[in-house]
Amino acid sequence: MRQVRFNIHPKEAKITEAIASVEAPEGYSGEGFFTAKLSDVVGLARKNSMWPLPFATSCCGIEFMASMAPHYDIARFGAERVGFSPRQCDLLMVMGTIAKKMGPVLRQVYLQMAEPRWVIAVGACASSGGIFDSYSVLQGIDQIIPVDVYVPGCPPRPEAIIDGFMKIQELVSQESIRRRNSEQYKALMNGYGIE
Ligand code: SF4
Repeated sequence: MRQVRFNIHPKEAKITEAIASVEAPEGYSGEGFFTAKLSDVVGLARKNSMWPLPFATSCCGIEFMASMAPHYDIARFGAERVGFSPRQCDLLMVMGTIAKKMGPVLRQVYLQMAEPRWVIAVGACASSGGIFDSYSVLQGIDQIIPVDVYVPGCPPRPEAIIDGFMKIQELVSQESIRRRNSEQYKALMNGYGIE
């Protein structure tokens, strides 16, 4: 007879030892106080509460679904609140082949997101057009919107998507709260025709 495994461990789980908490930013502490840079504290909060907006058009989207499922569980990174309203989300995850006809739609979704916003191009198609070197396919979403992290693969495994997500978290935690008002950032946006 086939053995049935139940998800019950005979040993009592030591939950307090298994749960990790985020590291506090660098700062000064003394009796009853702790000071740190505002940028670091804001970065810590943003990094651990990302709201992804999955823009999935084909196969890579299925890998993303796996990364949301219990085995990989992107919720462990504080990103379980996946949303489909650009006005609420701060991380645009583009997964799949983007046809040129879809380009303006993707750009509009990006424009509707409030600052600060970040973008991941997941997989070869979103990053470079992938195997579809054709007249109808956009050869990389960075032709129409700025991209922060590229995840290679066709398709990338969920581990790679999670790795890309962690790279975004690194960027988010280190970003100065003044970056979005800087001349360099405005020049980047102007390069894409965005005011
Ligand atoms: S990169 Fe590969 S798996 Fe991903 S959408 Fe393109 S063809 Fe599909």
